[in-house]
Amino acid sequence: MMKSYKYRIYPGKSEEGKLENTLSMCRHLYNWSLRERNNNYQLWKQAKTIEKSINVEVDKKVIFSSPMGQFFYKRGNEAISVKTLTRIEGILGIMFSSTWENVPRNINYNYQQDNLSSLKEERPWFKSVHSQVLQDVLGRVDEAYEGFYNEGKGYPKYKKKGQYSSITYPQNIKFPKEDEKTPGKYKINVSKIGETKIVYHRHMPKVATIKTLTIEKDGGKWFACFSCELKHTHIEPEQDLSKSIGIDMGLIDFYYGSDGSHVEVPKYLRKSEKKLQNLQRRFNNEEKRTKRWYKLLKSLQKVHYKVRSQREDFLHKEANRLLKDFDIIIYEDLNIQGLKRRPKPKQDEGGKYLPNGASAKSGLNKSISDVSWGKFFEILKYKALVRGRTLKAIDPKYTSQICSQCGSMVEKSLSMRTHICPVCGLIIPRDYNSALYIKRLGLESLSKVTQEAPAIS
Ligand SMILES: [Zn+2]
Repeated sequence: MMKSYKYRIYPGKSEEGKLENTLSMCRHLYNWSLRERNNNYQLWKQAKTIEKSINVEVDKKVIFSSPMGQFFYKRGNEAISVKTLTRIEGILGIMFSSTWENVPRNINYNYQQDNLSSLKEERPWFKSVHSQVLQDVLGRVDEAYEGFYNEGKGYPKYKKKGQYSSITYPQNIKFPKEDEKTPGKYKINVSKIGETKIVYHRHMPKVATIKTLTIEKDGGKWFACFSCELKHTHIEPEQDLSKSIGIDMGLIDFYYGSDGSHVEVPKYLRKSEKKLQNLQRRFNNEEKRTKRWYKLLKSLQKVHYKVRSQREDFLHKEANRLLKDFDIIIYEDLNIQGLKRRPKPKQDEGGKYLPNGASAKSGLNKSISDVSWGKFFEILKYKALVRGRTLKAIDPKYTSQICSQCGSMVEKSLSMRTHICPVCGLIIPRDYNSALYIKRLGLESLSKVTQEAPAIS
């Protein structure tokens, strides 16, 4: 798996000047490459509009224009060139044709990369930037276009001053080095920039392979981000165990944290969800394909969309908050027991009512929580991977019954909202106790894992 490590760096005056210069040149290269590709794209768009009149198929993958403004269609093995498309306007503007092999190359990543050396000849100051850093700039342009073509993302934008804030080295990156004269102080050597001090507070594991180094400017501060590949995920001795949290998912609170924090599902979301339930019920009872049925269907889709986006906003916000404050997040694996035994509803079988008046047995309530929890962990897992955090799932068995302090079994029904341990005397909210116990279980099992152990999911 990939893991990233971010450190504050303190470049000296001369190094900072070089970094600023590099960022500025990279921004220019980015915009320049973007313009070149944009011209190509504009031609393609024009071609699309006259596609029918010239009766050849235009595909963005096989549309090519040379830097000279020639523009080609592919038809079989034949290449058809059309000069200055704007002049065509309905007239077949075929100027000449040749075989496909003779066609100048498309303006894509490879084309632009090949042109880097002539760029350096024309503008010698680009020689002061590491060639791989320049290639990475072209890669970013390419990625922006790929996102636009294939992932439905917006059209790539030019970068204004200050909007290009990082450079990436994709090869031959070394670990930070300890300063021989002042032990405990570390430095990194950034190619073409020079040596800079780094606050190496949490060491990268020795088994890690550094894939890329990104130097980033954020809010006037400089950072070095190392992206590493780890063969196995493991808890590192350097990892700060105090930065861990256990979370107990619930119906009353969305979750209760072992740090004592608890997060409710926001009222506006509950309200929209309630509205959705009511609408759904009315819709189900309506006779199909009547005027009213279509009307309800329309509002159902609308509310459904609203609930979904409100819910996702909430889940993203909560996931970000947890990952910002904690290195290790421990939770109950809701899939271990399958759908029969959810962490809280398992005790609802007696049909007890929750203090907030909602019936815990209500299938609808459960299904909403299921959706949210499932989605929440999906988001959390993805973000944890990107940010190099550890997630640990534990078996949810007895988490609400066992005392987090002494380990005694303290049975309680769902209506009992306080954990009162007759053995050690611990008295805390029920869900808080669960969260603490979840954290305890997680840390115990994490500390057993060695570097040789298989990956933790
Ligand atoms: Zn106890």
